[in-house]
Amino acid sequence: MLSRTFLATALGCQIFFCATFCATTALAQPPAANQMPSVIQVPAEAQPSPHFDASAATNAYLAQIPADKTARSNAYFEGGYWLILWDFLYGVVVALLLLNLRWSARMRDLAERVTRFKPVHTFVYWLQYLLLTSILVFPLTVYENYFREHKYGLATQTFGPWMMDQVKNLGVNLVLGGILVVMLFGIVRRLPRTWWIWGSVATIVFLIFVVLISPVYIFPIFNKVTRLDDPKIVDPILSMARANGIPAKDVYEIDASRQTTRMSANVSGFASTMRITLNDNLLRRGSPEEIQAVMGHEMGHYVMNHIYKSIMYQLIITVVAFAYLFWGLNWTLQRWGEKWQIRGVGDTAVLPLVVLLVSIFGFVTTPIDNTFTRTQEIEADMYGLNTARQPDGFAQAAIHLGEYRKMNPSPIEEFIFFDHPSGRNRIYAAMRWKAENLKLFTGQP
Ligand SMILES: [Zn+2]
Repeated sequence: MLSRTFLATALGCQIFFCATFCATTALAQPPAANQMPSVIQVPAEAQPSPHFDASAATNAYLAQIPADKTARSNAYFEGGYWLILWDFLYGVVVALLLLNLRWSARMRDLAERVTRFKPVHTFVYWLQYLLLTSILVFPLTVYENYFREHKYGLATQTFGPWMMDQVKNLGVNLVLGGILVVMLFGIVRRLPRTWWIWGSVATIVFLIFVVLISPVYIFPIFNKVTRLDDPKIVDPILSMARANGIPAKDVYEIDASRQTTRMSANVSGFASTMRITLNDNLLRRGSPEEIQAVMGHEMGHYVMNHIYKSIMYQLIITVVAFAYLFWGLNWTLQRWGEKWQIRGVGDTAVLPLVVLLVSIFGFVTTPIDNTFTRTQEIEADMYGLNTARQPDGFAQAAIHLGEYRKMNPSPIEEFIFFDHPSGRNRIYAAMRWKAENLKLFTGQP
């Protein structure tokens, strides 16, 4: 979540530690209002039989979800579509304000009074920019991430601890964003014609660095990450890992319940820090079959090198974004540069314009990003079904995730907005797999 925020702020890129079966982070309180059954109840239509029908089994699973819960999760998820638009428009207004009222130019002037030494000057500008924009977008942030989450029973923090997390997030953005911004402005000033190429290379190297350090140095700022030691849970997971050639010695648990009721797991890190982490909501509420189904999915990400492929994808997207930025900055600065008192691309006062152009790029490419991620998720689902052989556990996981994701969207909705397959498609995939492997469940040859 924080990396997302950071990148959205600094760059508009996406993070690649796959938030997978996964979601963002979050707490534990007694069962929240939106919780669905934890014990697997395989409906009659999904029991193995000679008449097993994947569609009927899927419908029977979907029918387990009470209508009011479906309405609630649909409202939450569809509201998220609009939030993409409002976040974008709000960001555009903030950027235009900073440019047209020449606040950005004034922050640059102030930073110059502090120092003319370029890297420090850039960082001082970044500090002012980050504080000012964080304050300006705060009303939207607090609605979106606090009140709205509470309204739907997904949040577990009171305002104080939530606010504390926001401050920590600001600190992370200050440091990581600061490094990136200082580095990129340095490149732009030295290489005025080719900065878009070197800037994209530097950005990708930096993103790999962030992914590498995240599990060890960033996640622990917000949550407690511990090694799981319950053999009932760990042994089957490590056995599955060995069978799949994954050199894992440990499985990690994160106390996401500190912030949210969402169940999730993920693969994070890069090279030596790559690891599989389950959140405590999944451990508490998931059945063993469900946990194994989710782990099979995560291992699919691991074995199919999804993190590396995501980095390749980001590399391509980043180069395109920088080329567009090179063109877009020249075009806009020629027209309005003087009015905004921006001296050129190497002037720190240009930052709100950069963020504006990148957010337009990010907004337009949202369906492409989602489709890339969703495609990997479908692959991991297939891998997980074959590995864990727990189609009913898998269906249960899809129902649990339905607490905050729309289960049954239209195909166009799924294409544009879903970074994972919809719940209905996931359950159907599981039941289709079960239909083709009925002998595993009937004991017949
Ligand atoms: Zn996944």
